[in-house]
Amino acid sequence: MINPLMRHKQGWIEIICGCMFSGKTEELIRRVRTALIAKQKVQLFNSKVDTRYGLDSITSHNQNKVAAICVKTSDEILPHLEKDTQVVAIDEVNFFDKGIVSVCEQLANKGLRVIVAGLDTDYRAEPFEVTAALMAKAEFVTKNLAVCTKCGNPASFTQRISKDKRRIVVGTTDAYQARCRRCYKKPRA
Ligand code: ADP
Ligand code: MG
Ligand code: ZN
Repeated sequence: MINPLMRHKQGWIEIICGCMFSGKTEELIRRVRTALIAKQKVQLFNSKVDTRYGLDSITSHNQNKVAAICVKTSDEILPHLEKDTQVVAIDEVNFFDKGIVSVCEQLANKGLRVIVAGLDTDYRAEPFEVTAALMAKAEFVTKNLAVCTKCGNPASFTQRISKDKRRIVVGTTDAYQARCRRCYKKPRA
C-alpha cells in the first residue's frame, strides 16, 4: 500500500471487507506482519464482542494469530494509542458502534496508516452501516470472496445456519457458511 506518488507524509485508511471465511483476518494479519518486518510500530484492536478465540488476539479461521487489545466501544481506542505508533489495525469493525468511523478518520488525519477489516453485509445480506461508511471514506478498498460451500463458486454472502434473528450472533462454521448469489437464501424478516 505504498503509493509511489505520495510526496508528503500522510495517513490513510485501507479496508478489507467481504463475507465470512473470505480471508479478511488473514489479509489483515499479513499486512500487519509486513509492517512489522519494516520495523513499524503497530497496534492491533479487536472487539470484545468477538469471543471466538479469547480476548487477547486476532485469530483467523485457520488459526493464524497475533496479539491484540480487546475493546468494547470505539472510544476506548484513542486512549490506548501510544505516541510512536505508525499503524493501527482493527478487526471486525462491523461489531463496533458508529463512532469507529470517526476514530479511523482521526487516526488517518494524524498521519497513521489505518487498516480495518470487517463484514460488509449481515446474514440478511444488508450492509453493515459502519463498514459501508468506512468503504466510502477509505483510500483503499479490498473486497475478498470466499468459496461457496454448496457449489464451489466465488461466494460473497454469509448464510446463517441457525434460526437466530439477532443481527450479531458470534460463531464460525457451526453457525455460518459462505454462499454464492445462487445458493444464498435470504432468511425471512
Ligand atoms: P474471515 O476473517 O474473512 O472470516 P479468515 O481470514 O479468518 O476469514 O479465514 C479464512 C480461511 O478460512 C481460509 O484461508 C480457509 O482456510 C478457511 N475457510 C473455511 N471455509 C472457507 C470457505 N467456504 N471459503 C474460503 N475459505 C474458507
Ligand atoms: Mg475475521
Ligand atoms: Zn453456490
